[in-house]
Amino acid sequence: PYDVLIVGGGPAGAAAAIYAARKGIRTGVVAERFGGQVLDTLAIENFVSVKETEGPQFATALEQHVKAYDVDIMNVQRAEQLIAGDKLIEVKLANGGVLKGKTVILSTGARWREVNVPGEREYRNHGVAYCPHCDGPLFKGKRVSVIGGGNSGVEAAIDLAGLVQHVTLLEFAAELKADAVLVKKLKSLPNVTIVTSAQTTEITGDGKKVNGISYKERETGEVRHVELEGVFVQIGLVPNTEWLKGTVALSKHGEIEIDAKGQTSIPGVFAAGDVTTVPYKQIVIAVGAGATAALSAFDHLIRSSVD
Ligand code: FAD
Repeated sequence: PYDVLIVGGGPAGAAAAIYAARKGIRTGVVAERFGGQVLDTLAIENFVSVKETEGPQFATALEQHVKAYDVDIMNVQRAEQLIAGDKLIEVKLANGGVLKGKTVILSTGARWREVNVPGEREYRNHGVAYCPHCDGPLFKGKRVSVIGGGNSGVEAAIDLAGLVQHVTLLEFAAELKADAVLVKKLKSLPNVTIVTSAQTTEITGDGKKVNGISYKERETGEVRHVELEGVFVQIGLVPNTEWLKGTVALSKHGEIEIDAKGQTSIPGVFAAGDVTTVPYKQIVIAVGAGATAALSAFDHLIRSSVD
């Protein structure tokens, strides 16, 4: 068995692998797609100490750093089940294989919920964005739209309003669902237009980048078009925990509940990164959490009975 078996090869999993391997213990990483969400990212400008890089380049750097250590990387493998035994924890893979660990670190990340309208996929990273902390500054002085009137959408709109020329917030329901204090703040901003009962129908572009958004007024059925340069989709971040239901404790949003050491509800099972209840989903935060989880797993191993 592995001393530390890591499921997920994004920034959190890579950091966990490096920290575990540096303890000289048997470490394995199994990942569906080594690199994780950063593979879908263009510019990264907020990973502290790296002024500017690109997602695929960052993913290659992660992999090279992990490969500098004695770590088994099992890429393009999907975990389907976690089984916590008395001594060992098992991870069943889609290919039928079973991996065993004395400790396991879960770092399967998350994915942004998409609006699924024409233009969204085509213009992803070319005007369609999902992370205001990451991509907000790219739209400085421009016009943007935020899709979604829940807490994340309204927070994004407030955040962006301080950077961009104008924000149009589109909410499908008749009312914004965010906390009242956020809605009040949003309504006080001069450069924000709020449209409720609006169903986004298309993100338009010139073939290279976004140039507008179309939505249907749900009450009248009329379709409207707004010219702009950017669209932030803020309708939810979905943790990749479907395969863990009924095992580790999950929050009501499906995130793995962890304590400050990255410990889950199952002894010997730790978790890190976007898949957990950690506030703020960012690379630098996932990397720190991966290190925490690996150090906690090591701590668990040295306190467990010797066999
Ligand atoms: P992930 O990166 O999601 O990695 C999860 C890993 O688990 C992957 O290897 C995946 O294949 C694997 N996995 C999932 N399910 C399974 C399974 N069942 N079995 C096996 N493996 C599995 N953050 C920033 O800080 N700056 C930015 O500029 C930035 N820009 C972004 C732009 C975009 C378009 C996106 C989508 C995200 C961006 N983020 C940015 C957020 C950042 O990418 C995430 O916070 C970070 O990648 C989280 O790392 P993670 O390791 O927790 O999860």
